[in-house]
Amino acid sequence: MPTTVSRVKTMQAFVMKRIGAVGVMEKPVPEPGPEDAVVKTTAALICTSDAHTVGGAIGERENITLGHEAVGVIYKLGSSVKGFKEGDRVAVNAITPCWRCVNCLRGYPSQCGQMLGGWKFANVKDGNMAEYFHVNAAQANLAPIPAALKDEQAVYACDMMSTGLAGAERAAVPVGGSAAVFGCGPVGLMAVAGARLLGAGLVIAVESVPKRQELARRYGADAVVDFSKQDPVKAILELTAGQGVDGAIEALGSQATLEACVRAARPGGTISNVGYHGKGEYLNIPRLDWGVGMGDKTIRTALCPGGAERMGRLMRLVEKGRVDPTLMTTHRFRFKDVEKAFQLMKTKEDGIIKPLILF
Ligand SMILES: [Zn+2]
Ligand SMILES: [Zn+2]
Repeated sequence: MPTTVSRVKTMQAFVMKRIGAVGVMEKPVPEPGPEDAVVKTTAALICTSDAHTVGGAIGERENITLGHEAVGVIYKLGSSVKGFKEGDRVAVNAITPCWRCVNCLRGYPSQCGQMLGGWKFANVKDGNMAEYFHVNAAQANLAPIPAALKDEQAVYACDMMSTGLAGAERAAVPVGGSAAVFGCGPVGLMAVAGARLLGAGLVIAVESVPKRQELARRYGADAVVDFSKQDPVKAILELTAGQGVDGAIEALGSQATLEACVRAARPGGTISNVGYHGKGEYLNIPRLDWGVGMGDKTIRTALCPGGAERMGRLMRLVEKGRVDPTLMTTHRFRFKDVEKAFQLMKTKEDGIIKPLILF
């Protein structure tokens, strides 16, 4: 960018003022350190976890900018970031690890520094539901958006695709095997798509909301089980000749669904958890259905894997038409109406699945 262009000093940001209160406020445009970048936001998605955060899920925060699903153009680059230039279109995953601490080097970048420490946006630093946002470890966390992709497509790689597909990847379903996805919100829907992409021969979606059931079918579910009308575990056993599934994906985050996953998994099967468990001190595992601890049933967990390499693969899936995440965009708002979008996401009214915010 030519130096003659005067840079703005302040920006609008959508913040959590304190537990239970949100609003738009003016903040300074962030400055990058040598290894960082600042991105000018073009498109973002509101996440149910933003509502959890405002509800107090991670404790008190004062005027922290919300948001962790956003794409944009590079506005300012740190001096040691190579291979990018200002103006490049980039997507940044919700999880922005440092890529050099012990946990990152061990292969667990979502647990950067400490458990869940890869999650920095709207947690330990300002999020990206703002006109500009800061990206740490930019070299590894900035992912170029392919020219053929629109921002409103690429933005799904930031969390929904990465988390949903991680649910399917961790479920370790063999080619032709079976998967059940509990909860078909946007993450569950991407888990359905992921199970299908990874070669599952039978994908069962567990969901009661008609619009979500319909999307689950479009993303590749062979059967949809309405848990409000039938016992989902019984239905899954019936659909698998009494065997249970190879992979049971928990994409909701509740005692009931985790338990159902353990029951629905066949011996040797995997329970793959990507649901956020926000309540209680403990979760219970049904002892007998877990083979009294000897049923070869594995429980795995994941937090939205980040980094440019994965982001590139996720965006390629969209570019090549393997997945169309934009089917989940039920609502569109300008950034000035972000608060309205947030309230809708909180109450889940009007059949909302994902609200897209355009800047
Ligand atoms: Zn999210
Ligand atoms: Zn790290």
